[in-house]
Amino acid sequence: MKALAWMGKNTVQVIDTYKPKVVEDQDVVLKVTGSTVCGSDLHLLHGTVVELQKGDILGHEFCGVVENMGEGVKGLNKGDRVVASFQIACGDCFFCKQKLSSQCERTNSNTLEKGMYGGRTAGMLGYSHFTGGFAGGQAEYVRVPYGSVNLLKLPDSVPDEKGLYLSDVLCTSYNCVVDTGVSEGDIVAIWGAGPIGQMCAEFAFLQGAKRVIIIDSNWRLDYVKEKYPKVETIDYSKLGKGESVVTKLKEMTDGRGPDDALECVAGEYAKGWAHYFEMQLGMETDTSEIVNEMIASVRNFGRVGITGVYVGFTNHFNIGSLMERGIRLIGNGQAPVHLYWDKLLKWIEEGKINPLNMVTHRVRIEDLDKVYYKFEKKEDGMQKVFVQT
Ligand code: NAD
Ligand code: ZN
Ligand code: ZN
Repeated sequence: MKALAWMGKNTVQVIDTYKPKVVEDQDVVLKVTGSTVCGSDLHLLHGTVVELQKGDILGHEFCGVVENMGEGVKGLNKGDRVVASFQIACGDCFFCKQKLSSQCERTNSNTLEKGMYGGRTAGMLGYSHFTGGFAGGQAEYVRVPYGSVNLLKLPDSVPDEKGLYLSDVLCTSYNCVVDTGVSEGDIVAIWGAGPIGQMCAEFAFLQGAKRVIIIDSNWRLDYVKEKYPKVETIDYSKLGKGESVVTKLKEMTDGRGPDDALECVAGEYAKGWAHYFEMQLGMETDTSEIVNEMIASVRNFGRVGITGVYVGFTNHFNIGSLMERGIRLIGNGQAPVHLYWDKLLKWIEEGKINPLNMVTHRVRIEDLDKVYYKFEKKEDGMQKVFVQT
């Protein structure tokens, strides 16, 4: 079968490889019909995620048709159309019983438990051996462990192109909004106008937000203005002398600041990212300026939610402002996908949200390696692709 594999730093390739088999009795093997490339996949491309091995198959957002399954799988039949969770959850541990599946205690046996995080998180498909070493779904076939738990049946009324994003981006954005505590009448500021930031804007309005302001630069803001006309924008690259994102936001909100600040950037944009490695080498670390910007921007007793991916420790963090002004700093975690599936599937069916607003390109799996490089440079206005398999 064809699959997209990591072949070394900054190199991916469509390769021919073996089709996966049912190994455990709760496994499902899917014939993949659609997948996508996530902003998080770039961390893999760049080799900034540890424990990647040459030949690892990537991809954690995909949908498909049940091809084969172990005897322990319940509630699914061969031929069912399904979308997969990007996390592998067992469905039965302390966290899974509360549907906090991103913290499953059973599926990830990597070093996080002993290391700096003070606890481990769930395994992830297509995300290196750091998160369990599960082969991903940018492939013609994929093995999904605990299939009854990690696959959601799609009704006929929801085509692949709409259902696919329940793997990650829709659940992640919704989690960011509700976990941070966006409420009726709020003014919400969102850092980052990528797919996550865009869907956060949609969900913030659905939660009753009065205004949404997105901060970014470049063509992304034009895209937002066209697709989400109710959203206000700040281009941080075009601020005048003496202006900053903080002063601009205060100016737009009667000097007080927004109620909620949502971090949808991070990754390599954030200074804190590379310091995982530095920390391992015992070097000093620095913080993300974005988080300090968010802390300074929100109103007193406002909320700051972090969904963009950070790795490791940071210093120089405005703890004085947090303490004095009562700012709530919330790590939204890897989103617990399963918690939101029923609600978000219903919203797609009802047309309350339209995931297609994020999609800019449609490609075939044969071209996926080229797409990675385009996606990395955001060439051609590329942001969310639908990969037909
Ligand atoms: P993306 O790269 O498409 O978008 C990020 C945007 O941030 C870009 O448009 C960039 O121009 C903008 N940006 C850069 N520096 C900025 C700054 N200083 N201020 C404001 N904007 C700035 O990414 P995405 O796919 O939308 O994902 C966003 C983040 O969410 C990534 O870090 C991704 O890894 C993470 N993520 C988290 C989860 C989770 O479960 N927590 C799941 C999926 C993705
Ligand atoms: Zn993702
Ligand atoms: Zn579990």
